[in-house]
Amino acid sequence: MKIAIVGAGVNGLATAHELLLAGHDVTVFERHATAAEAGSFAPAGLLHAAWALAWAEPQTRLHLPWSAQGAALRWRPQAGWAGWAWRRRWRSATRRRPAPARQALADLLALGQERHADLTTELELDHDRSDGLLVLASDERRFAQAAARAIGLREMGLAVRAVSAEEARTIEPALNPSAPLAGAVHLAGPAVANCREWTLLLRQALMRGGGRFVARQPIAALEPHDGSIDVVAPDGERETFGAAVVCAGVDAIPLLQGLGLRSPFAVWWSHSLSAPMREPVDAPQSGVLDLQSGVTVTRLGHRVRASGGWDLGGDAGPAEKAAIARLAQTASLWFPAAARLGGTQSALQSWRGAVLASPDGLPLVGASRVPGVWLNIAHGPLGWALACGAAHHLAQTITDEGASSISSALSPARLGL
Ligand SMILES: Cc1cc2nc3c(=O)[nH]c(=O)nc-3n(C[C@H](O)[C@H](O)[C@H](O)COP(=O)(O)OP(=O)(O)OC[C@H]3O[C@@H](n4cnc5c(N)ncnc54)[C@H](O)[C@@H]3O)c2cc1C
Repeated sequence: MKIAIVGAGVNGLATAHELLLAGHDVTVFERHATAAEAGSFAPAGLLHAAWALAWAEPQTRLHLPWSAQGAALRWRPQAGWAGWAWRRRWRSATRRRPAPARQALADLLALGQERHADLTTELELDHDRSDGLLVLASDERRFAQAAARAIGLREMGLAVRAVSAEEARTIEPALNPSAPLAGAVHLAGPAVANCREWTLLLRQALMRGGGRFVARQPIAALEPHDGSIDVVAPDGERETFGAAVVCAGVDAIPLLQGLGLRSPFAVWWSHSLSAPMREPVDAPQSGVLDLQSGVTVTRLGHRVRASGGWDLGGDAGPAEKAAIARLAQTASLWFPAAARLGGTQSALQSWRGAVLASPDGLPLVGASRVPGVWLNIAHGPLGWALACGAAHHLAQTITDEGASSISSALSPARLGL
């Protein structure tokens, strides 16, 4: 089938490639000059299933599982009362998430890890990546909570265990000896990888494999007719496809509204700060997550990246100074000599990015109500960890149209789309 994909973030490219492998004729439309220029530009890079599942588990409070206050989803006044109502709905849904939906998420993450490894090897996608994530607890209370959580994740078959402060310092030898550390939880196996680099390499592989990539091409509308879908440019130019997949991140909202599909989504914002490594021995081997601040510090090739904190509500704009200062502070606390994170040096990259989040905290992966229009959107803060699994699952569904437990849990129909 001739299929259009709108959006060349990690989810669009992964979907396009899986569809190409399934024998379809694919075209990716991207409004920017290249791929990964929006939500996939500079994420922390975490993709460990245990990290993602801990994020997505039901919560008793708004605070996110691995953190105290730092990584909580903050409601910003710009979100208005609609944002407030959305947050209440999200909180209640994540608390009461049914077991099949939790299982579907775990299955999707496992599938994603497998596909990420396979595609990386088969297509020789030589990107920055590393194994292991240490979740750092600075006091005994947090350590006890994290260790209890580790037991639950281990029972799900994940390689997670509590380690002493001493062992944590052996795993990450550059950890600041003066920073208070009661203990840590170690997540073994592939944990950190460069999302943007992988996406750009996948774009090249797609084009080598016969896929079409149309850059600088915004799509104004998708119009169904006679069992086909017209992909319409702002100047009215159109091309007809057998199906279209919306992978447009936060900009999916206007496309869906044009199709008469409502938007139950919220936009979340977060920051990252990247700096060149000074000395590799002083930098993290892979990544750490500071429980107190909710900030992660990861190694991505020759750079160190700090990221964390989520806001519900806000307008497009540059990175906020206070948020960046908080990231620099946590990175310097744990790895004081890893990178020069302060000041205005040009090598520093401060980034503020947005993701689309659904009110039940799960992505929408599957057919929409509009025949021929498929969705792969709303992965929230887990878009990189979920990308390969979601893409593979969607390509299988489009090709075989078979239902599975993942299909029903992630189906857009559950939210009326
Ligand atoms: C600070 C930060 C840290 C994060 N850390 C992590 C992490 O550690 N682990 C993790 O799993 N996830 C993380 N995430 C989330 C993850 O980065 C995103 O969920 C993911 O990259 C989204 O990918 P996407 O392809 O769905 O969307 P995007 O990357 O936003 O791609 C959508 C693309 O569609 C294009 N587009 C939109 N509308 C149109 C149109 N009408 N016509 C043409 N093109 C269009 C856009 O230009 C864009 O390129 C983080 C996010 C942020 C902001």
